[in-house]
Amino acid sequence: MTGQRLVNVMEELVSGLVRFFLRSPEYQIFCNCNECEMRIVAKALNNLPPHYVVSESEREKVFNELKSPKNIEIINKEIIRAIYEAGNRRNHVV
Ligand SMILES: [Zn+2]
Repeated sequence: MTGQRLVNVMEELVSGLVRFFLRSPEYQIFCNCNECEMRIVAKALNNLPPHYVVSESEREKVFNELKSPKNIEIINKEIIRAIYEAGNRRNHVV
């Protein structure tokens, strides 16, 4: 992170997790194209609190806090819900 810029640590974490979920064997029934992936990330993020930081040290601190088992459980639940909701309305033809 060079200079000051706003980073939503929750967004970074959720993007990575959604990518991971969509590539795991049990989620292959869902589309994992970039468009659907972004839609799922957006949907999950709308149901999770943002965690903005402006420095690398803060970013690491918040990232580690968000990765606690309790937080990950909450975050994963929202991601899985988002995947299923986007999957139900899947009209995306690749
Ligand atoms: Zn798609």
